[in-house]
Amino acid sequence: MTADLELTARQAAKALRDWTWRQPETKAGGRGGTHIGVGVLRCALCGGTLVGSDMATGWYASIALYSCADSDCEQTGVPVTEVDGELETFTRKRLAEPAVVARWRAAYLAELDDRIAEARPVLPWCRDQRRRRQLSRRLALFDGSARCVSSSMGNLFFFGAELADVVYERVRTAGESKQGRSIRELTQAAAEWRTLWRDIHGVARRDVRRVLGRRHLKEIYDEWDRLQERLWDLLNETDWQYPYPARLPLQDRAMDQKWSQSPGVMARQRRSLLAYALGDDQLVVAATKAAGSRVRVDAPASDDAEQS
Ligand SMILES: [Zn+2]
Repeated sequence: MTADLELTARQAAKALRDWTWRQPETKAGGRGGTHIGVGVLRCALCGGTLVGSDMATGWYASIALYSCADSDCEQTGVPVTEVDGELETFTRKRLAEPAVVARWRAAYLAELDDRIAEARPVLPWCRDQRRRRQLSRRLALFDGSARCVSSSMGNLFFFGAELADVVYERVRTAGESKQGRSIRELTQAAAEWRTLWRDIHGVARRDVRRVLGRRHLKEIYDEWDRLQERLWDLLNETDWQYPYPARLPLQDRAMDQKWSQSPGVMARQRRSLLAYALGDDQLVVAATKAAGSRVRVDAPASDDAEQS
């Protein structure tokens, strides 16, 4: 493999930490607060953006509103719960259309592929024992290391576990595939390493030595090495067998609860699904209802219409 020559230990350590701790900015999800509609919704009166605000309803109570960002605008605030309920209905309807599902799948797979491609150059440093020691020394610069799981071990663990999740997400988003190893091997290997991590990550080394003896501590570390090496080997694979149909966007956990009753829950994922549902259209919110709803869908402004 030539990829391991592309990074030095220092670069690999930095890439590993960046990849693990930076939440990827999905093209659709973007940044934003806990209100899904902020940055997406437009004001029906002035066409400006809507922001989140609170209105006091008593000494201690308040309700969350979407209000116009322009303080001079006459539009009054609209309750977030009410609008989010309409956004959920809209998202469900759109994401059930085959063309929208196809668009979502292509874009989401591309995002996952980017994320996997960014992790790949680090893998050779995880797999090879000598290089892993070099990498660990880099990761251990600020390591207290009185715990069973030192911070460098923890860094490698979080990187491996998260990468296994992303690979699994990619496989089930793409759907049925008959080539390669069974994806269960990967999810099981990651689950076993997670279990060991959960058992020992908060435990001090000297306590294990005192209670169970030095030999037991060595056994724990041998097991740790065995589990992580298996996962690195599996993560090196590129083809995975998966016997089920591709998952659908509406099977996302962000759709489990009613949006109107749980505003702010999984806001990033919900915003991402809403963006896929919306495509190039725009959502306009009015303070008064028209035909039972406050949210209206507008086709994109045609000021950049084709010139022929
Ligand atoms: Zn306005």
